[in-house]
Amino acid sequence: MFKKIYKEIKKYDRIVIARHIGVDPDALASQLALRDSIRLSFPEKKVFAIGTGSAKFTYLGKLDKFDDVYENTLLIVTDTPDRKRIDSADPDMFTSSIKIDHHPFVEKTCELEYIDDIASSASEIVMQLIEETKLECNKEIAETLFIGLVSDSNRFLFDSCGSNTFLLVSKYLEKYKFSINKIYQKMYVRPLCEVRLEGYISLNMTVTDNGLGYIKITDKIINDFGVDSAAAGNMVNNFNFINEVLVWATITEDVKNNQIRVSIRSRGPEINKVAEKYNGGGHKFASGAKVKTFDDAILLMNDLDKTLKNYKIKNNI
Ligand code: AMP
Repeated sequence: MFKKIYKEIKKYDRIVIARHIGVDPDALASQLALRDSIRLSFPEKKVFAIGTGSAKFTYLGKLDKFDDVYENTLLIVTDTPDRKRIDSADPDMFTSSIKIDHHPFVEKTCELEYIDDIASSASEIVMQLIEETKLECNKEIAETLFIGLVSDSNRFLFDSCGSNTFLLVSKYLEKYKFSINKIYQKMYVRPLCEVRLEGYISLNMTVTDNGLGYIKITDKIINDFGVDSAAAGNMVNNFNFINEVLVWATITEDVKNNQIRVSIRSRGPEINKVAEKYNGGGHKFASGAKVKTFDDAILLMNDLDKTLKNYKIKNNI
């Protein structure tokens, strides 16, 4: 399949690379690294990385302005399982399209689809693609891919990091000699206000008898702490490994987009099917949904709590 993808890339002089809305480091890293690798391998090609960016991740690189020419143009979508979550691109408008993803299959959106839903990240798949084809790489591209992988696996925390993940990282480290410490500084140094909000979440999280932990982060709380809404929602990743909590969620008000972002994580039951009922989805143990009101979010919490109860009964916990 990688050879087929490479052949398609070779065939087109114009290539657009998109990824999912609500950008995160893996989506952006897989997209930008693939763009830069294609540019490095084929300097004559026009390659655009498109979509809405985020000031928080500018250290990964810049996005491009697409010239809106769709003829003889290949679209590659990374890290996105479904049509509704592709940021700023409709596969049907392009001459051909390729999906590169690590989410569980939702629907066919592109002509050629490479899905590995046990890979740690879309960045890992791009690493493999580069390894197995004549696509070129350099230190900057390797660093970007490492950031995507490390970010989506929360620093190698999950089973999605298999021997192949470590093998690839090892090969990239050996070849491109980037500094892990320098990369982690870029990724993890953050303002005190965010650490303070994390403290607030620890102190105020609701925890049910079944082991569901959740916190409502209203616009007022976001403003009081002086953080941005995206940073507040992403804090869900910092509450792994609490003894009393098997499923946890942040419910974050996003006034700008007039929606409530729910981010859910689990160390027990699979949660993506529950999220799907509320216009969401994602991975088995890392899912999300966008809802209209806090009341809708609480309905989702009740559903998760029931799922947890059944999980505990079934597993004698
Ligand atoms: P987040 O908690 O926003 O980091 O998202 C965790 C995972 O759930 C990611 O893989 C997202 O792609 C997925 N996800 C988040 N929000 C949604 C949504 N509204 N619909 C479908 N999948 C989502």
